[in-house]
Amino acid sequence: MWQSVHSWTFNVFSLSQPELVALASNLLHWAGVDAYLGVSPAALTDFCMSVAAEYHDVAFHNFRHGVCVMHVTYLVLHGLGMHTERVHIDVPHRAALLLAALCHDAQHDGRTNPFHVATQSAVYKRFPVSSPLERLHAATTAKLLAETRLLAKLPIAERAELEGRIERLILATDMSLHDRVMTAATTTPTSIDAVADLILHCADISNPIMTTDVSRRWSTCLMDEFAEQVADERRRGLPLSTYMMAAPNSREEAALHMGFIERYAGEGWRTLVAVLDTDADLFATCLSNLAANETYWRLRIDRWTPTRAAASSHPHPPPPTDPVVRVESLQAA
Ligand SMILES: [Zn+2]
Repeated sequence: MWQSVHSWTFNVFSLSQPELVALASNLLHWAGVDAYLGVSPAALTDFCMSVAAEYHDVAFHNFRHGVCVMHVTYLVLHGLGMHTERVHIDVPHRAALLLAALCHDAQHDGRTNPFHVATQSAVYKRFPVSSPLERLHAATTAKLLAETRLLAKLPIAERAELEGRIERLILATDMSLHDRVMTAATTTPTSIDAVADLILHCADISNPIMTTDVSRRWSTCLMDEFAEQVADERRRGLPLSTYMMAAPNSREEAALHMGFIERYAGEGWRTLVAVLDTDADLFATCLSNLAANETYWRLRIDRWTPTRAAASSHPHPPPPTDPVVRVESLQAA
């Protein structure tokens, strides 16, 4: 199980739920978080089990996604040797990043922020100002940290600082803040907070930098979750989120994922590599995976053909038209 855990080719789908808990706990231990907090490795495991219980059994934003984002965050930190030439990512910041990554979608219900606003949901009513989901995830994380007393041995001021840092990191995972996170990191690459926000945001949208098999599997999970939301919208008589309605293996689905790479993941990861300004080999696999996945989706757009049934009823089918891809609304965070 741990053979390739320090590799970008690690397959998080190969793990059972108890193994996901074990991985999360080990990542915290390997990063020195237990020593920093003055707790035992067993306390880390108990905390990770509590986090797992706060995730819902939805298709994409589930505990596996939380552990996956945490694992990618760890790989970035580990590859950097926990520091860059520009920014030293010290233990408190490592702890904040890894804990925020693990918890960043806790209690996600598989619906988007616009859905919560449109339905005036309980989450929206609790956090009506902005980013209702991210505020829910941050509040859930704060509750877990308090209940488990994971930070109890830190001096009060240091604990408050760590809690504030975790909250800030989780709130910055709102996809609508993508441009702001990019701009902050590129204009102030020596700011540890700006770089940390960028690392977690990139880890959150890291599916396209994984091997094509793993990346494709996450894409399917996301489409399944989208289909659930559309079915819910239909039941409630709401306007349908048409960008979520691409059929499996269709040209529209390929265009949706390609649009996401172009607008978010590709820009994010290439910016991260530039901002960290570190050994090019560290991210070579990520960038080659990204290029392979771009090619994968591009080929499916370019070579798209109608289904056999459609072809037989239309001997000369018209070329496919570009679907309306509303990537700005794509909530993969
Ligand atoms: Zn996420």
